Amino acid sequence: MTNPLDIILSNMQQGVAFLNADLRVVLVNDRFAELLRVPKGQIAVGVDANAIAGQMAANRDQSQIWLLHLLMNSTALHQQIEIGDGWLLAFTSTPIDHDGWLVQCEDMSPLASLEKTLAEQRGLFDTVLDNMPHGLCMFDADKNLMLCNAAYARLYCLPEQLTRSGTPLQHILDYRQTLGNAPAHRESYFDVVVEAALKGATASQNIALMDGRVVKISHKPMENGGYVAAHEDVTEAVRADEQIRYMASHDPLTGLPNRTLLREKIDRELSLDGKTSAVLCLDLDHFKEVNDTLGHAVGDLLLKAVADRLADCLREGDSIARLGGDEFVVFQADVRGREQASTLAKRIVEVVDKIFVIDGKPIRIGVSIGIAIAPDDGDAADSILRRADTALYKAKSNGRGTFCFFETAMDANRQERRNLELDLQRALEHNQFEIYYQPQVDAASEQVVGFEALLRWHHPERGLVPPAEFIPLAEETGLIVPIGEWVLRQACNDAAGWPADICVAVNLSPLQFRSQTLAHTVVSALSDAGLPASRLELEITESVLLTDNETALATLHHIRGLGVRIAMDDFGTGYSSLSYLRLFPFDKIKIDQSFIRELGSSKDCAAIVKAVVDLGASLGITTTAEGVETKDQLSRVREQGCGEIQGYLFGKPLPLSSVHDLIRGRLTSAA
Ligand code: C2E
Ligand code: MG
Ligand code: MG
Repeated sequence: MTNPLDIILSNMQQGVAFLNADLRVVLVNDRFAELLRVPKGQIAVGVDANAIAGQMAANRDQSQIWLLHLLMNSTALHQQIEIGDGWLLAFTSTPIDHDGWLVQCEDMSPLASLEKTLAEQRGLFDTVLDNMPHGLCMFDADKNLMLCNAAYARLYCLPEQLTRSGTPLQHILDYRQTLGNAPAHRESYFDVVVEAALKGATASQNIALMDGRVVKISHKPMENGGYVAAHEDVTEAVRADEQIRYMASHDPLTGLPNRTLLREKIDRELSLDGKTSAVLCLDLDHFKEVNDTLGHAVGDLLLKAVADRLADCLREGDSIARLGGDEFVVFQADVRGREQASTLAKRIVEVVDKIFVIDGKPIRIGVSIGIAIAPDDGDAADSILRRADTALYKAKSNGRGTFCFFETAMDANRQERRNLELDLQRALEHNQFEIYYQPQVDAASEQVVGFEALLRWHHPERGLVPPAEFIPLAEETGLIVPIGEWVLRQACNDAAGWPADICVAVNLSPLQFRSQTLAHTVVSALSDAGLPASRLELEITESVLLTDNETALATLHHIRGLGVRIAMDDFGTGYSSLSYLRLFPFDKIKIDQSFIRELGSSKDCAAIVKAVVDLGASLGITTTAEGVETKDQLSRVREQGCGEIQGYLFGKPLPLSSVHDLIRGRLTSAA
């Protein structure tokens, strides 16, 4: 039977050789030669260590160390020896009682390649870690640093020694405290860690630092009780977010809260029981005129100045918002009653009434205020604002520069107005409009020379609604543009059926001048009706020139260039009618009926009419007297030299059929 020791030796994974005191092989297994990569039998009993070292010739230096050690030392030697291309052996030589050596060798190559792969992976991992844009760190259960990347160190300007494994978190935080970049509130920082640990899931939170930066920290707990955390500098994103939120809730011009923020604040305050608050809706008087005459830049500066003055009127707890245009709202939280709201309103009226100096120019405006009291008039922002606005509407119609408290009846009036607005929207398509014509006669011959088209609305329930009631509404809603176009086309069509020496005059609203297409509408109305331009006269009031001077003037010149005459209506009612006469070559001035009415009683009126007629004559402009009702007025306006007359004395506005009768009558009387 084979020696059991041989069986063990020949089946060992290790190579084993036993050398005697002369360093000659006494015992060796096959694996030994195999590992040294020498042919079988070359290392056999009797071979000396020198020859073995020779077999390890691929690495002469290392085999020399081994050999010398065997010769000169009686201690064990452990050595790794590389034998040719990557073949790595672990060589252990152990002295046996000065009688020899046990030499063992083991193949280390698989382990070496594993280590190499691991080292490569670690290198790769470090590269990834250090190139991550976010800081990454790992702490153990005792809050000692396990690892962190370069971005983490950069984010908090940590020196190298504080990034070493084992550094307590406390040391890092203390150091950051001295640098001024520690969390502004340390407790909230630890809250995140605790939260993550409790939930066992990632918890994220934005942490403000002492230096103003904001870092988003996401903690993920690990099984060993520690955690991994990603730190991301989100300062810019947070600032951008804050900016967006600010912009969405504030008015960019004055920096005041806007409607959204105001509503939130009112709703919040109104939800507190037992408090009375006042909402004051403000609208500046004559602001539009400032904007139109002095320009938007001045208008903007004025709004800012108003905002400043309003802010000075408020107590702590009150707030102010700009809803847009010249509308402001003051919210008076916790008032004792109406008196307190009226005191504030009076004060606001007073301070806004004082002259503003903008760009060196003195400007006088005013303010009208509507007040609603919560919870009596409404218990939510929307309803209370709506009611304050209704009261404002009333304050304005009461004559501006005043304030007015909401009353229940006002809602009904407003509702009625809203209904009228809805009806007006449908009036055109339901053919509810009709044009009446009022004759205009030559002052000398008393012959009809033309008719003024005056719009009438046949309301299905209200009957005939006068233009004074619906034209302003049509202007506010913009409906005046399609309605005005309808009047123009209808009047041109009607006039086309009249004798060639009779003209038609059509009133234009300033709003129609803003639509850009006015000149084109005039051209197409004339050509569709087949009416020569010379038989059309357009009446405008000075407010046309007040708003957007340049474009309106260009449109007027364009239309006049077609041969259409342009008349200035209601002359004398505005405050700078005279200056507008220089701006545009009007063909006609229509002196407002208020002057004619008082001709008999007021010397001033007579003087004004005379002056206007003379001025017209010197400029080659015809003058028409409006609203002549009596023979006395007729003789007076004739005396002053008015060229044309319009008024009840010669005829009220009539439906088209009566116009035909009148014309036929004129023809028969002439015959
Ligand atoms: P307006 O252009 O100054 O028209 C003259 C107004 O004076 C007319 O009132 C006319 O009926 C009235 N009137 C004429 N003679 C006399 C008189 O002897 N005594 C009195 N007391 N009144 C007289 P109406 O028709 O009520 O029109 C009022 C205003 O409505 C017009 O004033 C005009 O500004 C506007 N309007 C009328 N139709 C239109 C239209 O189609 N478009 C535009 N934009 N405005 C229109
Ligand atoms: Mg008119
Ligand atoms: Mg008029």
